Amino acid sequence: DDKEYVGFATLPNQVHRKSVKKGFDFTLMVAGRGDPAGLGGESGLGKSTLVNSLFLTDMYRDRKLLNAEERITQTVEITKHVVDIEEKGVKLRLTIVDTPGFGDAVNNTECWKPVADYIDQQFEQYFRDESGLNRKNIQDNRVHCCIYFISPFGHGLRPLDVEFMRALHQRVNIVPVLAKADTLTPAEVERMKNKIREEIDHYGIRIYQFPECDSDEDEEFKLQDQALKESIPFAVIGSNTVVEAKGRRVRGRLYPWGIVE
Ligand code: GDP
Repeated sequence: DDKEYVGFATLPNQVHRKSVKKGFDFTLMVAGRGDPAGLGGESGLGKSTLVNSLFLTDMYRDRKLLNAEERITQTVEITKHVVDIEEKGVKLRLTIVDTPGFGDAVNNTECWKPVADYIDQQFEQYFRDESGLNRKNIQDNRVHCCIYFISPFGHGLRPLDVEFMRALHQRVNIVPVLAKADTLTPAEVERMKNKIREEIDHYGIRIYQFPECDSDEDEEFKLQDQALKESIPFAVIGSNTVVEAKGRRVRGRLYPWGIVE
């Protein structure tokens, strides 16, 4: 069967055995600012689409989209979407934390603050639970990772991107991604990536560092690992639709000139 897999079922065996019994919690935050509200066009950076593509599910069934006018007056909000995913007998309780309204207001001074406060609160809650008497069934609501979406339409990072990442980099693992990469040519992707890397460096932003791979891995794996690390920020493309390409059904974006898989 052509069932697709996310891949958490292939974690190392030890982790696997424990998790099979209990299932585990994973909380992923998505953030990033689209184009300014009120200028027309789409403001979204494809955050929900990518999450749905990553986890092959529809996390946002009950989402309400705001129009431009509503967006500029809205304050930053923290929303949570939870799904239970089971794959080859492994249970995952996935929570997606989204930050609608981030960067949409006219005055965005410290608009990262509610997000930072939210992350801090989850740490405090976990700390309290761990120091409490009933430690068996603690629910881990800490934010484990934050995928930060960077607009493909700018020239590198925007001031708000820098501000957000600098405010949050001590609190959460930040993985920067270049959103909607299908809107750029390969050369433009490379240019954007270089610019973003330079700026991350220049502003002292500490993004998530992927762990070293084991020294006893084979050469091919090491090269692959190296190539992956060098490609940060990852260029991503999301799609909620399945299209047919060369007789295969793939998740992709159908354009008049072809399909982006
Ligand atoms: P969000 O507001 O950041 O969650 O953005 P959405 O996921 O709702 O996407 C906003 C719009 O961008 C929708 O019309 C999507 O179809 C479109 N979109 C999402 N991902 C991509 C992508 O990778 N490339 C392109 N070109 N468009 C995308």
